[in-house]
Amino acid sequence: MTPGDEQMDSVMPAEVRCSNCGALVPDIAGPVHAYMHAAPGCWALYTALEDWKAAQAGGRPGGVDIGVHLVDSYAAQHAANAERRNRQSVAVHLMSLCAALEHGRSGAWRRRAMGAWTHREYRLLEPRPPAFDTTIRDVADAPGPARPGVVQAMAEATWGAWSVHHSQIRAWLAEIMSRGGSPS
Ligand SMILES: [Zn+2]
Repeated sequence: MTPGDEQMDSVMPAEVRCSNCGALVPDIAGPVHAYMHAAPGCWALYTALEDWKAAQAGGRPGGVDIGVHLVDSYAAQHAANAERRNRQSVAVHLMSLCAALEHGRSGAWRRRAMGAWTHREYRLLEPRPPAFDTTIRDVADAPGPARPGVVQAMAEATWGAWSVHHSQIRAWLAEIMSRGGSPS
């Protein structure tokens, strides 16, 4: 795109579907995450929310931390890579969603706990969900005041989409908590 192009608002940027989360995202070239196979346009939508996400830190009434929900949901929606770091990432972020949605754990608890969860092997969870009802695109498109609600919906949609593997994820979480692998 050349500098004058932005003024031609009738020209919409081309879009492409992220092969991982299924979101329609800008068809751009750009950096991608080291091991999450997101489309560059998908990763750009996520990283553009960095400041907003940081501003959510500290949580909301009831201890729900929208920033942690966003990180967990995004990671769990990008699970196409069988490489060890990505298997770990998907597993611990799903465990964190489980801890929040089924056990009411706070964002602060999840941030502390996840660090202790990564030092082990997690098998690849297959099949992975073919699509997700709420994606980073919905979060990016939402006006600021509505955005926390969309992230909450993204967290619930992400956890729900992985329902085939809930028993495995719950078992990982229960086992690690029984061994004291989590803060109180
Ligand atoms: Zn994506």
